[in-house]
Amino acid sequence: MNSQKWTEKFPLLRRVAAAEEIIWLNPSFSPFHSVHRTSIRESIVEESEKRFLRFKPWMQEVFSIDEPYQSPLTEVRKLQHVLQIPGRLFIKQDSELPVAGSIKARGGFHEVFAWAEQLALKHHLLTGWSDDYRRLNTPEAKALFSSYTIAVGSTGNLGMSIGIMGTSFGFQSTVHMSNDAKKWKKDRLRNSGARVLEYTGDYSRAVEEGRRQCLKDETCHFVDDERSTLLFAGYTTAASELAVQLRQAGLYPDENHPLFVYLPCGVGGGPGGVAFGLKRLFGKHVHCFFAEPTHSPAMLLGLVTREHEKICVQDLGLDNQTEADGLAVGRPSALASKVMEPLLSGAYTIEDDRLYEYLDLLMNTEQFYLEPSALAGMAGPEKTAASGYFEKYAIDPGTVTHVVWGTGGGLVPEDIRAEDRRKRKSPKEFQNEAD
Ligand SMILES: *Cc1c(COP(=O)(O)O)cnc(C)c1O
Repeated sequence: MNSQKWTEKFPLLRRVAAAEEIIWLNPSFSPFHSVHRTSIRESIVEESEKRFLRFKPWMQEVFSIDEPYQSPLTEVRKLQHVLQIPGRLFIKQDSELPVAGSIKARGGFHEVFAWAEQLALKHHLLTGWSDDYRRLNTPEAKALFSSYTIAVGSTGNLGMSIGIMGTSFGFQSTVHMSNDAKKWKKDRLRNSGARVLEYTGDYSRAVEEGRRQCLKDETCHFVDDERSTLLFAGYTTAASELAVQLRQAGLYPDENHPLFVYLPCGVGGGPGGVAFGLKRLFGKHVHCFFAEPTHSPAMLLGLVTREHEKICVQDLGLDNQTEADGLAVGRPSALASKVMEPLLSGAYTIEDDRLYEYLDLLMNTEQFYLEPSALAGMAGPEKTAASGYFEKYAIDPGTVTHVVWGTGGGLVPEDIRAEDRRKRKSPKEFQNEAD
């Protein structure tokens, strides 16, 4: 179908095709839908949590960190005051996740762990799950892993997560990147010992090429961002961590404390995994929204048309050009998009200029940095409030706990951070910001 047929069938897509900011409430959603409606087994969550625990001593030894998988949940009162949002406002700082500095630590590490574990058991480096996994940090283990390759196609952060973790085990690591990936990310990867191959065209092309090359080779494992259940499973573990943090804040989600979560979305695996985990724990008390750039609303299109991975943003005449490189994705993952259909409250789009406004505003008010992609969730509270969603479900805005998922930025060099702040076009747009 061409663009006009889609916009006739779904009038909202006219504004999407014009790259306008919109919010869409999902007609297939009900607060009562549970994760059992999806094709994903609930047990993947616990399985991944246990795998993370088995590798914890290895992580602690190799990277000298006590808590290798946790990120802070930070209440941002000054920012909330400027944005004039009722309820409470928090940012989940996945930018502070150790080693990878982004949400990709959750999915990416999990898949590298799973492969390393499988090989180690097969070659008797480990005798079972109860073994001391620090055995994988020996010359003998590294010699084994060095005859295997781990590969991935990526716009940046997934590549860094897999590349850095892969080389830490001793794997040969290959990252297939689209040429719009940021230069510092490529440099950083090459410095860590990974091989970086670049492709013209967008991210799907890099994934396709990587998948094709790896399939021919039995010693190669391809981390498939568009299809992997192991990646998805790794992301789900964020939920129990958030549950502990909310409980400590006295805001465990219930009738009187509805939780709203805003997740920047690329192919959908990261936000999808987190949302799956949250729905599993909190059920009808959590409401999840995805955020995408106006030029790359891949998941939105897949869900609105229910064509999932069979439609891409180019079908609507959009160019998939955005500064939010983690979200520069033209086609959603089939896995994530189908899982989210009954669970997602809605999705919205945001212009690149707005990301830079939020970036600078966050630095001015709370003094911390997130990369442009990671700021897409910031518009969530304002957009949901204007959408009629609270009225539809009789939610008092004053009782809402908003969690904006700050998906990355921890590894961004100082000079790039300063450059990002200068990209803000309209200084002091928000009321009270000058205070
Ligand atoms: C990858 C990424 C996302 C989105 O994750 P997907 O699995 O691609 O949907 C969001 N923000 C940042 C910073 C990312 O790197």
